[in-house]
Amino acid sequence: MTSGEPITGGADRIVRDVVCGFCGLGCDDLEVAVAGRAITPRTACPEAARLLARSDAPPPSPRINGAPASFEDATAAAAGHLKAARSAAFSGLGADLEGLRRLYDLAMASGASLDHAASGGLFANLERLARKGWIAATLAEVRNRCDVLVVFGDDPASAFSRFFSRAVPVRGEGADGDAAPLFVTAPGRRQIAVVGGPLSEASRRVLAAHEVTEIAVAEQDVATATSVLTALVAGRVVDGLAGLPEATVAALAALAEQLKAARYAVFTWNAASLPAEDAPVVAGAASEAVDVLSVTTRAAVFPLGGRDNVTGAHQLALWRFGYPLRTAVGAGTSRHVPELYATAAALPDADLLLHTSAFRPDAPPDFDRGPVIAIAHPDTVFAREPEVFIPVGTPGVDYGGHVFRMDSVVCLPLQALRPAELPSVAEAAAAILVSFGRGA
Ligand code: SF4
Repeated sequence: MTSGEPITGGADRIVRDVVCGFCGLGCDDLEVAVAGRAITPRTACPEAARLLARSDAPPPSPRINGAPASFEDATAAAAGHLKAARSAAFSGLGADLEGLRRLYDLAMASGASLDHAASGGLFANLERLARKGWIAATLAEVRNRCDVLVVFGDDPASAFSRFFSRAVPVRGEGADGDAAPLFVTAPGRRQIAVVGGPLSEASRRVLAAHEVTEIAVAEQDVATATSVLTALVAGRVVDGLAGLPEATVAALAALAEQLKAARYAVFTWNAASLPAEDAPVVAGAASEAVDVLSVTTRAAVFPLGGRDNVTGAHQLALWRFGYPLRTAVGAGTSRHVPELYATAAALPDADLLLHTSAFRPDAPPDFDRGPVIAIAHPDTVFAREPEVFIPVGTPGVDYGGHVFRMDSVVCLPLQALRPAELPSVAEAAAAILVSFGRGA
């Protein structure tokens, strides 16, 4: 698997069926206008439009201690800092698979802990998945089979703008009739229940053809409501009202009956948007509801997540090290201790921070215990100038590559949209590794 070939032509053109790698939903029908190096999105959600839009302005050069430098000098300086470090932390990890592969090579050579900026939600879900497993649906199964969809927490569209139109479309989008939902008997009348909310007006419009129930639950009560719903599905007695209003419990009881009558129920939540202590509870209760329902009908979870290829970073860590993220590697060993190697926990003991964010201009976390190396989006604004800044192109904009969709089953090919003037993450990390090997 290699990064895509750079585009050399600069003629104005319209590019259709662009694959998006930003939020993890993996939309593949975006449209942009390209003029030279300028990109103007024509069909994209607000998030993708913001991140795809580019001007024709020349990109910044690398910097060492704030002064412009060549790519070669910057990568050599980064290698020098890594060589002197004893406890490096690699954060961000916002890169395509090839970039991650080279970053992991570098981590193994220098010794470093690895964590992705969006792995908080992933680890909340792993608490349940690692202990008991779960039955998870793919996006295609939700689209083609789900007749009752339960959302826990806030409106998924706030982080995954097109979730509802992708997951529960009334009919196929565009002119492609094959894209219409396949096995739901009434694709325009699915039951959608939101336990939390509220839905935005835009989401209500997208769901207008369905039967939508909004059970308003405050953020701090979503985990309780999820547990109560699971208890009701399982036929357990719920003591009192579990601190919930009577009307809420009555609505959850009605939803439990809908779920028992469903042909294919799906439970979804965005762990990253729930309170940290509640997200594992929601994941556990939703998975238990699936276990109960699966005795008599079909049900599955569909956890939301996947921003900036965190799913790919997780998969690649499993392939390479046999452990998920939040693992320290080096000297031929790997050690997975999430409590120690989550970025926030690793930084107080680190003496170097290497931060990567190629999809969006996210600055490194605060760090003052040693040098900072930023392999980052050219528009990144730094609170503290890094010792080494290597601006890189964006996968799916400046160069091709691969990212995982949030359900882990599809690896999406991203294409370059314009001539690349910045290196890829893979090229930057590989150059640092070469200098590192030379004893920089
Ligand atoms: S919803 Fe997500 S994948 Fe789809 S276009 Fe928007 S940012 Fe991209």
